[in-house]
Amino acid sequence: MENYIAQRLQELHNSLPKHVELVAVSKYYPIEDVATAYRAGQRVFGESRAQELCEKYQALPKDIQWHFIGHLQPNKVKYIAPFIKLIHAVDSMKLLREIDKQGRKYQRVIPCLLQLHVAQEETKYGFSLQACRDMLQEGEWRELSYAPICGIMCMASHTDDVERIRDDFRTAHGFYEEVRETYFHDNLDFRYCSWGMSSDYTIAVDEGANLVRIGSSIFECP
Ligand SMILES: *Cc1c(COP(=O)(O)O)cnc(C)c1O
Repeated sequence: MENYIAQRLQELHNSLPKHVELVAVSKYYPIEDVATAYRAGQRVFGESRAQELCEKYQALPKDIQWHFIGHLQPNKVKYIAPFIKLIHAVDSMKLLREIDKQGRKYQRVIPCLLQLHVAQEETKYGFSLQACRDMLQEGEWRELSYAPICGIMCMASHTDDVERIRDDFRTAHGFYEEVRETYFHDNLDFRYCSWGMSSDYTIAVDEGANLVRIGSSIFECP
């Protein structure tokens, strides 16, 4: 397993373009596997449950950059605010306000990505394009200086249809460009396009991703 994880990380780093950052998604995988990936040089990890993340944070080296990638309940922000590096899936103003509040409390700026709902399934979280436009237009986010909006995140439809997946990522990228021109043209911090998982990251990279979130293809020996 040790060799497998190191080898997969190496392969991924060799195949990803230089401008694409790999988030190794370690949710549900044991601390030993994260430590193995760490020894192989990986420093950026993604988790999607606050409690599991806090346990791993405490057990593992402190130079790991932890990203929160899943749905986050506002009442859990306080547990991760002292150390979280980036929150990928902000899907409400309520959550953004809470991140700002906790960031202020801990005197840490916590970069945030807005989660877009582009997939066809109804169950997934995230802003619709129009709800996201409305939120940005309303403008309150500008005052939340401890929770700056630094990009867009999405998940593609759960399907084998490659063209539909591509369409979802294209929609997200088009939206990212629109929002960047409208609200962030003078702001270089708005720069993250977080899409692509084990099954679809090559399509995601083709369609403008610069953060990919890959778990099972690193941590699960086939
Ligand atoms: C689990 C998860 C991933 C990684 O999925 P894999 O198929 O294991 O690569 C990426 N993004 C989110 C939001 C996840 O919850």
